[in-house]
Amino acid sequence: MSAKVRFAPSPTGKLHVGNIRTALTNFLYAKGQGGQFVLRIDDTDLERSTKAFEDGIKADLEWLGLNWDETFRQSERFERYDAVADDLRQRGLLYPCYETGDELDRKRKLQRAQGKPPVYDRAALTLTDAQKAAYEAEGRKPHWRFKLSGKTVTWTDLVRGDTPIDTASLSDPILIREDGSYLYTLPSVIDDIDTGITAIIRGEDHVTNSGAQIEIFEAIAGKAPDMGHHPLLVGPDGEKLSKRLGTLSISGLAEEGIEAMTILSLLAKIGTSDPVEPRLSIEALAADFDLSKFSRAPARFDPEELTRLNARLLHETPLESVRSRLSAMGVDVTPEFWEAARPNLDRLEDAVTLRNLIEGPVTPVVADEDRDFIATAAEALPAGTLDAGSWSAWTSELKAQTGRKGRGLFMPLRLALTGESHGPEMDKLLVLIGRERALSRLNG
Ligand code: GLU
Repeated sequence: MSAKVRFAPSPTGKLHVGNIRTALTNFLYAKGQGGQFVLRIDDTDLERSTKAFEDGIKADLEWLGLNWDETFRQSERFERYDAVADDLRQRGLLYPCYETGDELDRKRKLQRAQGKPPVYDRAALTLTDAQKAAYEAEGRKPHWRFKLSGKTVTWTDLVRGDTPIDTASLSDPILIREDGSYLYTLPSVIDDIDTGITAIIRGEDHVTNSGAQIEIFEAIAGKAPDMGHHPLLVGPDGEKLSKRLGTLSISGLAEEGIEAMTILSLLAKIGTSDPVEPRLSIEALAADFDLSKFSRAPARFDPEELTRLNARLLHETPLESVRSRLSAMGVDVTPEFWEAARPNLDRLEDAVTLRNLIEGPVTPVVADEDRDFIATAAEALPAGTLDAGSWSAWTSELKAQTGRKGRGLFMPLRLALTGESHGPEMDKLLVLIGRERALSRLNG
C-alpha cells in the first residue's frame, strides 16, 4: 500500500515554523516513497476559522513548494460525522453527559485534594432514563464522551518506538460539545479512515491523544494507521519556544528575504542526526529523509541559524533558479555578475544593492587627507580590462608607492569606488565596476 499522509492545520492563524516542520515531515515521508500528501483544513471550529487564514495557509504551502495531492475541509463533512456518531451512540461507545463545566471543575478539585488523578468518573454512565429526562427538562443539553476500554494501548511509533498509553489513566474524551459542535478528535479519525491515510505524523503533544484516537479508529474501522510523534521545537537554549519564535510566520520570514529552501533545509534537519546544510530542492531533502534519524530530544530552533543558512544557500544557488525573481526586482543579470554577486548575498535583494554599487550612480567619498592618495590610485590603476588579479596588483603597487597598508590602504579605495565603508569583496567588485567607471569615481 503506498503511503498517504496528511497535514491538518486549523485555519485560525498563520502557519509558523512549528507547523511547517510537521507539514514538511509528512511531505518528505510520503514523497520519499512515492506516496501522497493531503491537505486537510480542520475548520470544525466555525467561529474561529476564517477563509483568509485558509487562503494564507495554502499560499504559504505553495510558496514553500509543499504541494498537496488532495485537499478538503472538515466543515464539508458534518453529515458523515453525524452518521458515525449515531453509530457509536447505538453501540454504547458514545454516551451523553450532563455535567456543567463548573461541576466538572469541582469534581477535579476534589479528586486532586484526595490525591487522585483528575480522571472523569463516568458518573453519566449510571444515569437512568428518568434522570436524563429530568436534565433535559431543566434545559440541559448533553455533551458526548467516547467510552475508552480502560486497557493499555500500545503502538510502534515511527519515531518513538513502542509507546504504551494506559487508557484507564485518561478521561473518556469529549467528542461532541453541548451545542452539537465537534471537537477535533472524532472528525480527524473519520477523515483519516475515509481518505485512506496510512500514517499520522505529528508533534509529541498528541501522544496521549493518540492513545484515545487509536481506540476510536479500532471502534470504527478495526485498526489504526501508523503513528509517528516527533519531538517539539524549543528555542536556541532549550527553552520552550517563546511566543515570538513560536509565531514566526512563514509569510513574515519570506518578507525578511528568507528563501523557501532555507526554511525547509533547516526544518528538515533540526532535531535529527543529519547536519544542517543548505539544500536547493525538496527532492534532495526527501532523499536524505528517514524518521529513524529523529532524535527523542526536542529540536532547537534558532532564527539566527535561518539567516546564516540563507546566505549559504544563496552562495550555492544557480542563476536559472533566481533569474525571474531578480528581473522582477529590476535586476537583469549576467552569469558573470551572478558568480561575483552570490558569495556576497545574505538575501536575494542584496543583489539589487550590489548592482547599484556597480552601475551607480555612486557618490564617491574621499576624505581630505586621502585626496592625493586617490589621485595616485587613479594613475596606478592597471591598464587594460580589469580582471580577478587587478585588485591585488593595484593595491601592491600603491603600497609600494605610498607606504600605506591595511585599512589605510583599502578603505579609501572602497569609499571612493562605492561610497560605502563596507560591502562585497573589492577584488570581485572592481572587476564588475570596470575600468571606466572606476576611473570616473576615482577622479570624481
Ligand atoms: N488540527 C489538528 C491540530 O492542528 C490536527 C492534529 C493532527 O494532526 O491530527 O492540532
